[in-house]
Amino acid sequence: MALVTAYILKDNALLVNQQLELPRLPSHPEDIVVSHATDSIGQVVARALINESEIPSGYQLMPVRQLVSHWTVAQFEQTSRAMQLLEWKRNHQFCSRCGNKATAHSREHCMTCTVCHYSQYPRINPCVIIAITKGAQILLARSAQRHTSMYGLIAGFVEVGETLEQAVARETLEEVGIRLKNIQYMASQPWPFPSNLMLAFKAEYAGGELLLQDEEIAEAAFFDFYQLPTIPPKGSIAYWMIEQVISQSTTNT
Ligand SMILES: [Zn+2]
Repeated sequence: MALVTAYILKDNALLVNQQLELPRLPSHPEDIVVSHATDSIGQVVARALINESEIPSGYQLMPVRQLVSHWTVAQFEQTSRAMQLLEWKRNHQFCSRCGNKATAHSREHCMTCTVCHYSQYPRINPCVIIAITKGAQILLARSAQRHTSMYGLIAGFVEVGETLEQAVARETLEEVGIRLKNIQYMASQPWPFPSNLMLAFKAEYAGGELLLQDEEIAEAAFFDFYQLPTIPPKGSIAYWMIEQVISQSTTNT
């Protein structure tokens, strides 16, 4: 029987060995295909870990957030895909229109209702994240919900009917009360907690006083580029964005 490389997941933790490699196992009928076999690489699948007693020897569950800083971008993107497909399948066992049982399509990622045939595809939630600068300072904020000493960037979900640029301006005004100019797209990153597509923008401060939305933001301030507090870890898009805006500003002056 052909072996598959398996992303075996439980509660945002992934089964890896000491070298952070994935197990190769016989395939299972419930597996979700993450990538098809090619000449050089066999099939890659995602699978939920149901029973911890089935963990192969030498393997352990490791939180995916910790793996981010050890892995390449390509590895993290594939992990992200595996996690999101698994989460989507778990949440779409029944039709959201009529409530009957849904079954997986044989060739594509689609859960179809056995009665009304309504099809449910994996859903991605677009989320803007914004690096806001004011001269040689960057706006960093501490979340009111996460109880952390880490300072991150302003971020929020795109609302229905909104452009990405409108979401950037609205989210910033709502969370910290300031207006922006020169809003520019930077990059994107799939972020599987649970199924976000992070869209990175940079922008410049245009006016207004910092006025924090209490339930979202515990603290926010413009920090000098070379006196930053604790920021999100390497591998996160926030870390990359902060590094980018600081290095671009240094190159320009
Ligand atoms: Zn239905």
